[in-house]
Amino acid sequence: MPNSNAIFASLSASDASALRPHLKSVHLESRRILFDVGDVIDSVYFPTSAVVSLVVGLSTGEMVEGAMVGKDSIVGVAAAMDSKLAFTQAIVQLPGDAFVCDASAFKGVAMQSERLLSLLFRHEQAVYAQAQQSTACMAAHDVRSRLCRWLLRARDLSGGDHLAFTQEFLAEMLGVRRTSVTFDAHALQQAGLIKYSRGKIQILNVDGLHEGACECYETVRSQYAKLLGRNRKAHDARSMSGVAHG
Ligand SMILES: [Zn+2]
Repeated sequence: MPNSNAIFASLSASDASALRPHLKSVHLESRRILFDVGDVIDSVYFPTSAVVSLVVGLSTGEMVEGAMVGKDSIVGVAAAMDSKLAFTQAIVQLPGDAFVCDASAFKGVAMQSERLLSLLFRHEQAVYAQAQQSTACMAAHDVRSRLCRWLLRARDLSGGDHLAFTQEFLAEMLGVRRTSVTFDAHALQQAGLIKYSRGKIQILNVDGLHEGACECYETVRSQYAKLLGRNRKAHDARSMSGVAHG
């Protein structure tokens, strides 16, 4: 169901029905690159259970995550609306489902709806804010609290406690050495918060991870809540008036 994506679920009935004929259900495999820097974006994605990282690649081959998005986001919307050129790489970090929409069709629907355009601007603002938060997080917070933050966000977006991440991948996304991640993941396991085996992490104690996470987890969560909350209120108000006049 497209409604499993929170942005789609928050659309007005007319915007949703204008987009629905253009949506196709897809399964996104782990490590699939949805688009790379400089690619022409021909599709936008509404993840419903897939989790996608927007990453910055460096000339040395390292990749660092700027933002993690999933069922609270649309992937590729800024480029689809304008230049069609991607400025970041989008890589599937946890496999799952999504709805894909042709970028030109998406733009066509958006240009017909001031309300949808306004939502898309706010959505881009939330992604930008998340990327800024990641910069501050990397500069000011220790690896363990960032790891807790990261696991909680991945859990929220995937909707499950079993996360298929290798420690190499975690280290890469957090922009730290593999040994740091190994050390801190071991400490979290010793504290009973997670259990990890080769390539898999199971979350055992969500409250414990909340306590261990830096403030960035809640900051990003509240930014997305505002994005969706404001919109939902407007939608509810209109639905109510529709009932009243219908
Ligand atoms: Zn932080």
